[in-house]
Amino acid sequence: MQPDTTLRPAPLTSAATPPHERAKPLAKGSTYPAKDLCSQCGLCDSRWVAYVKDSCAFLHQRFDAMETAAHGRSRDLENEDELYFGVQQRMLTARLQQPIAGAQWTGIVSRIGVRALETGLVDAVLCVGQSEEDRFTPVPRLARTPEEVLSARVNKPTLSPNLEVLEQLPGSGIKRLLAIGVGCQIQALRAVQPTLPLDELFVLGLPCVDNVSRQGLQTFLESTVSSPNTVVHYEFMQDFRIHFRHSDGREETVPFFGLDTPKLKNVFAPSCLSCFDYTNAGADLVVGYMGASFGRQWLTVRNPKGQQLLDLVEAELDTAPVTSAGQRQAAVQQGIEAYDKAVKLPLWVANLIGFFVERFGPKGLEYGRFSIDSHFTRNALWLRRNHPDKVEEHIPAFARRIISRYRLPD
Ligand code: FAD
Ligand code: SF4
Ligand code: SF4
Repeated sequence: MQPDTTLRPAPLTSAATPPHERAKPLAKGSTYPAKDLCSQCGLCDSRWVAYVKDSCAFLHQRFDAMETAAHGRSRDLENEDELYFGVQQRMLTARLQQPIAGAQWTGIVSRIGVRALETGLVDAVLCVGQSEEDRFTPVPRLARTPEEVLSARVNKPTLSPNLEVLEQLPGSGIKRLLAIGVGCQIQALRAVQPTLPLDELFVLGLPCVDNVSRQGLQTFLESTVSSPNTVVHYEFMQDFRIHFRHSDGREETVPFFGLDTPKLKNVFAPSCLSCFDYTNAGADLVVGYMGASFGRQWLTVRNPKGQQLLDLVEAELDTAPVTSAGQRQAAVQQGIEAYDKAVKLPLWVANLIGFFVERFGPKGLEYGRFSIDSHFTRNALWLRRNHPDKVEEHIPAFARRIISRYRLPD
């Protein structure tokens, strides 16, 4: 089956006024429908709140329907690559030959956004800038120029209300949009896509896990890094260390295994502790890093539209096939037990474990699977303990199959 490339709205009868034309955004600060599980994706800050019941990733999971509408089919659970990384027609690793200074990695995402505008593929790019006062406070925007896209480069590692900008679409003249976003934002966007005033939508997804509120980020930085207020960039990298960059250019690394787990156990947002859309199932193209070797980016093309996005920059990339090495299972199982006991290891032990895991542990796609297994098992446990009523409906089939490979404590 061919993907539905337009997903146009079903024709409305002339008498019907679409629900979003009658709805109003919710008041900021009010309790949103997903309550404590809300990831503040922004849908409820727009008139498309009218569809929240069926669109919110935390009220109603619809992976199969989303994948089928966006890619023409749902993922093949018997295929290990699709089980883990979602519907795909191609996976590769890449670097921009001329990296963009200040980007999160080499800046492939920003470059695609720039080229999409320069070539006239789209009229605007939904991306996330930062507030003038605080580098980590996200400010979603509809960028109309390459400069605006570039100024949104680098992660704002906090929950971002990306979909609030849908409110700006009516009357804007924007008919073709490239939306950049993380899984929960894309799930809601795909659900309301048929009702948006657009002729064409392209979706460039980021993998995402362990996101935090701005306050949660402060707690994380204060318990982890030497000078929390000067951090301008950080990433959990494939060498099992967190790499922090400070405003004076100084690099600092902290081993994963040395994190203050007792303090950090509750720092991640409840939405992210109940999320199973790590690899952004609904995007046309996903650009992350965790399935690539250290220093490279990892791309999953899900459908022809994703390839169209990649075509915009492929000649500027140094590309290579994906690779995989090592065995993740034992490390994941040990991690489940260590996390559950919330142990903080002495730094020298953490460094020693890190040394061995980096040399002999999972690499490439196996590292991606290590991270997915670790987060899905942790999140299943969190959900079971905190929202037992949601376990049945909320954990998608692909995640269940992955989780069933491990022993979870009660
Ligand atoms: P850049 O060119 O620097 O562009 C970054 C883009 O991210 C910008 O266009 C901006 O609009 C967008 N953005 C920034 N902050 C947010 C936000 N809060 N919400 C939505 N969009 C945002 N990749 C993995 O492989 N594994 C992970 O575990 C992982 N976790 C992530 C967690 C978060 C919160 C985010 C935002 C990204 C995560 N990524 C992860 C993706 C990865 O860190 C890079 O963003 C991606 O590889 C693109 O790098 P780049 O240099 O091409 O991006
Ligand atoms: Fe609304 Fe998004 Fe929160 Fe769900 S996650 S309640 S759609 S803002
Ligand atoms: Fe959304 Fe999941 Fe990322 Fe949290 S981890 S911000 S819920 S995609």
